[in-house]
Amino acid sequence: MLETLLPILIFTALALAVIGAVRRIRLWRQGRPSRVNLFKGLVALPRRYLVDLHHVVGRDKMISNTHVATAGGFVAAAVLMILVHGLGIANPLLGGLLLLASTSMFVGSLFVARRRLNPPARLSKGPWMRLPKSLMAFSIGVFLITLPTVGLLPEGLLEGGSSWLLALVLAGVVAWGLGEMFFGMTWGGPMKHAFAGALHLAFHRRAERFSTKKGGAGRSTGLKALNLEDEAAPLGVEKPADFTWNQLLGFDACVQCGRCEAVCPAFAAGQPLNPKKLIQDMVVGMAGGSDAAYAGSPYPGKPVGEHAGSPHGPIVALEGKALVDADTLWSCTTCRACVEECPMMIEHVDAIVDMRRYLTLERGKTPNKGAEVLDNLIATDNPGGFDPGSRLNWAADLNLPLMSDIKQVDVLLWLGDGAFDMRNQRTLRALVKVLRAAEVDFAVLGTEERDSGDVARRLGDEATFQSLAKRNIDTLAKYRFLQIVTCDPHSFHVLGNEYGELGGHYEVRHHSTFIAELFDAGRLTFAPWKGGSVTYHDPCYLGRYNGEFDAPRNVLKALGIEVKEMERSGFRSRCCGGGGGAPITDIPGERRIPDMRMNDVKESGAELVAVGCPQCTAMLEGVVDASAEVRDIAELVADALVERSADDVSGASRRTTASTTAEEVIV
Ligand code: SF4
Ligand code: SF4
Repeated sequence: MLETLLPILIFTALALAVIGAVRRIRLWRQGRPSRVNLFKGLVALPRRYLVDLHHVVGRDKMISNTHVATAGGFVAAAVLMILVHGLGIANPLLGGLLLLASTSMFVGSLFVARRRLNPPARLSKGPWMRLPKSLMAFSIGVFLITLPTVGLLPEGLLEGGSSWLLALVLAGVVAWGLGEMFFGMTWGGPMKHAFAGALHLAFHRRAERFSTKKGGAGRSTGLKALNLEDEAAPLGVEKPADFTWNQLLGFDACVQCGRCEAVCPAFAAGQPLNPKKLIQDMVVGMAGGSDAAYAGSPYPGKPVGEHAGSPHGPIVALEGKALVDADTLWSCTTCRACVEECPMMIEHVDAIVDMRRYLTLERGKTPNKGAEVLDNLIATDNPGGFDPGSRLNWAADLNLPLMSDIKQVDVLLWLGDGAFDMRNQRTLRALVKVLRAAEVDFAVLGTEERDSGDVARRLGDEATFQSLAKRNIDTLAKYRFLQIVTCDPHSFHVLGNEYGELGGHYEVRHHSTFIAELFDAGRLTFAPWKGGSVTYHDPCYLGRYNGEFDAPRNVLKALGIEVKEMERSGFRSRCCGGGGGAPITDIPGERRIPDMRMNDVKESGAELVAVGCPQCTAMLEGVVDASAEVRDIAELVADALVERSADDVSGASRRTTASTTAEEVIV
C-alpha cells in the first residue's frame, strides 16, 4: 500500500508547492520593478548562502550547526525521497544516503526542539512552536519508510495483511511532514523562509553586500537616491505595493528570530518600534489582512491586533490606524544594528527611510522639530538655522587656510554642522591643533561649506538632501585635494558613500583614521597617558556603516590607553540615540537611549568615554548624573601632543600619509 501511497503524497505535495510558489511570486510582483540579473543571482546563490549568510548565522555556533544539520539533512532527504519513494529508484545506496540525511535532519530537529522548550523573548511563538514536531515527523517518517529499501526491514513488511494500519500511520506521519516542508514552504508557515530566503539571497537589491570568489568587501550602506526627475515615480513608499518587488521578497524571508529586536535601541528604550514586528507588518500588508496572528513581542505600548492593511492601502493612516503608526517609523535612529544582525540580510533601514520619504515629501508630516529643521536647511543650509556667514566664527583666532584662497591642498578639512556648536568647536580646535602639529597641508571651505544633507535624507527629505549634495559637489569641484578629513561620521558616510550616485567621488577619512596614519608615519608624538580608565563608544556611522572599528582603538593605544571594552562594542555597539534625526523627531519612550548607553559605560567601570562623533558627544554629555567624562579622540590626542625634536621632524615624512601631493595629482 505504501508503494502506491507515497508517490501520490510526494507528487501532490510538490504540485501544491508549485501552485503556492506561483501565488507567492504574484504577491511579490505587486511591488515596483527592480532590475536584477536573474541568472547571475541564481548562480551566486549557493555562495551567498554558504559563505555570506553563514558568516552572520555563525555568530551563534549552536544555531549555525543546528541549521546545517537540519536544513542540509532536509534538502538531501527531500531530493533522495523523490528519487527513492517518488520515482521508485529503490537502490540500497540511495536508500542508505536517505537514511543518513533523515538522521541528520532528526538530530538537528532535536536541537530545534530544545531551543523551543524555553524560547527567549525575541523568538516568535505561534506556528514556530510546531516546527520541531513537523521536522521530526518528516525525518522519522522518511527514515522508517526507507528501512525496507536498504534491507533493514523485510521488503513486504509494510504491505498487505495486518500491517496496513502501520503503513497508514507511517503515510500519515510522512504526509504531515510533507505538508509543513513542501506545501508550507510556499503557502505560508515557518518553512516559507526557505523558499523566500533563497530567492531573496539570489535577487537581493544590494548585491554588493555579498562576497565573490575574489573576496569582496560586502559592505553596502549608502541609501539609494530617488529619481526626482521622474514625475511618474512615487516619492517614497505610501503602500506596500510601492516597495520594489525584491524588497517585498526580502520581507517574506524573515524567520522571526528577533535578533533585530534584541539589538534595537529604540525597542530597548520602550519606543514604539520593533524591527521584527515592522517586517512582519510589511508581510501582512503585502498579502492583506490584520496583524492579529503575529506571535512575537509587539511594538512597546501598542497591542497586537489593532492594525491591518492591504497591498494597495496606505501603510500609515492620515487618521486612525492602518498598517503601521507614524511614530513607529520616526523612532528609528537608523543605527543599522538590526541590518547587521539579521541572518536573512533584510534591509530595515532602507524600508524605514522609504516610508519616511513619503510622509515628508508627499505629506509634509515630519513630526516635532522635523519640519523646522528642514525649513532651516532650505533657508540657511544648516539645520540649526544659523547665519551661514558665521560658520567660521569659532576659528577667528586660528587663521585657518581657506580653499578659496589656496585652491589646492592635500587635506580638505570638512567641518560639518558641529561648527555651529560650542561643544564641538572644542573638538574642531583640538583637531586643528593636531593637524598643525603634524604639519599637514590642509584647508577648509569656510562659508562655502553646507550641511552634508545627512539629516535631511534620513528625515525623508530627499529633495533637500540632493540640493545640498549637488551644491557641495559643485563647490568641491572647484578645488583640488587628495582627501577629505572630518570628525563627523555622518558627513564622512554621506560624502564617501552617498555623493557618488550624484557625481561626487572622494576619498574621505574619519579623523581617527587620519590621526592613526599620522602616528604610524611618525608625525605625532604623545606623552604617556596619565588619566583614569577609558572605554570607547563606536559611532554607528563610523563602525557599522563603514567598518572602521580599529583606527580609533589604535589611536587610543598610541596614547597609552588600554580600552576597557563595553559589553556592546564594535559591530554590536549600542547607538547613542543621535542618528537618523531621532533627537529632532523625538518620539517618547519609557527611557532614553543615551541613558542606556551611559549605563553601558558605567558597567565597564571606565571613568572616561572616548568618542569620535559630535552627535555621540552631545547625546552622551546630555545624560544627567553621568558617571564618566565624555571626550572626543581629537581632544585626547591634542592634550597628549609632545613637540617633536628637529631630528624627528626631519626623519618623518612632511607629507600626509598618501604618497603624492595634491600638486602631483593635478599635473
Ligand atoms: S536601525 Fe537601529 S533603531 Fe532603527 S530599527 Fe534598526 S536597530 Fe532599531
Ligand atoms: S528581520 Fe532578520 S533579524 Fe529580524 S526577526 Fe526577521 S530574520 Fe530575524
